[in-house]
Amino acid sequence: MKQLVIATHNSGKLLEFQKLLTPHAIDVLDSTTLALPDVEETGETFSANALLKAQSAFDHTGIASLADDSGLCVDALNGAPGIFTARYGGPKKLISELKNTPNGARAAFFECTLCLVQKNVAPQFFTGRSFGSISKEIKGEQGFGYDPVFIPTGEKRTYAEMTKEEKAQTSHRAKALSAFVLYLQQND
Ligand code: IMP
Repeated sequence: MKQLVIATHNSGKLLEFQKLLTPHAIDVLDSTTLALPDVEETGETFSANALLKAQSAFDHTGIASLADDSGLCVDALNGAPGIFTARYGGPKKLISELKNTPNGARAAFFECTLCLVQKNVAPQFFTGRSFGSISKEIKGEQGFGYDPVFIPTGEKRTYAEMTKEEKAQTSHRAKALSAFVLYLQQND
């Protein structure tokens, strides 16, 4: 596979995909350049939403399409916001919701599920998770979304205090992409 549509309008995610796929000689086409329509995320799981986005991109372009659905699952909120992370309200709201939650009870994980839709092959799914905890305050300027409040396990810094390369060592998106790249290597 040479060309791959990345079905996302999120520039932060797109940058991470481009950076992670560059070494694999994959020509990344993006949703904005291709003017792909927005897809309503009506699924009840990360996989269902990733499939909706990848299928829509493939239907519009006829080119192999990869979409991700991702989100942050917080233990103290019973796994919320999960698939609703994009609509949750942002890092400040999360910190405020957890203001009475002690250090030992702030565990959370990011999940990223990728779906690949291509011609004559059943959709393929690849999932990665990054485990860690929610910080007590917003820290760092890098990354996007909830990076300034997420501290991966074994670290003292949030993802927003790390370079892209450092984040990629543990990130949910990098892990899911590694599984995707392995699939490409085994199936191309
Ligand atoms: P969706 O996958 O487009 O539904 O959006 C998921 C939301 O989860 C994003 O808009 C971000 O707010 C958040 N999110 C997903 N992955 C990351 C990440 O790597 N860092 C920070 N926030 C993320």
